[in-house]
Amino acid sequence: MIFGNTKCRRAQAQFDAYVDGELKDRAWLESHVAACQACRSRLEQVQAMALGLDGLVRQAPPEGFAERVMAAVSEQRTQVAYRPPRFRPAFGLAFAATTTLLIFAFFSFRMLTRPAQVTPTATTAASVTAQELRADAAEYESRGNIAEALHAYHQADELENTASLDTARAYEKAGFAGEAAYRYAEIAFY
Ligand SMILES: [Zn+2]
Repeated sequence: MIFGNTKCRRAQAQFDAYVDGELKDRAWLESHVAACQACRSRLEQVQAMALGLDGLVRQAPPEGFAERVMAAVSEQRTQVAYRPPRFRPAFGLAFAATTTLLIFAFFSFRMLTRPAQVTPTATTAASVTAQELRADAAEYESRGNIAEALHAYHQADELENTASLDTARAYEKAGFAGEAAYRYAEIAFY
């Protein structure tokens, strides 16, 4: 979770720039992190994430990927008149199966293509927490607990929702069509 006090928020807002080596005033952040266990462990997670992302091979989305996703999304939207508050099996087997396939396709694809430097800094803290939820979700998924996995993915999505549109636009602008399509689909679903 994002820690309540102003210094922690200020510190966590600087994590991306710090990890990227772009933060000018490193001394303030380093002294805060030295004194604050919560921010220290959060920064370690951001650093670990950045290292992991650097190790991934960046690749272009398959041809027509974004278009297929958006077509599937608008088809879903015309079929579903209201927004389900959360995943429910009773909502309809066909809808659930299609949604599940789409979500897992997005996540699998995303692991391969997620660009490291596009997300706006303001979304960092929410993204880190969402990342934790996604890790939980992956854990559930690996144990075959699909309903819990979807629920955790959904919570992560909700957390990022306010920033999602800006992020989608940033990805689109930077030429990551697959990632942008994922973000737009996220907004369309939730
Ligand atoms: Zn702190």
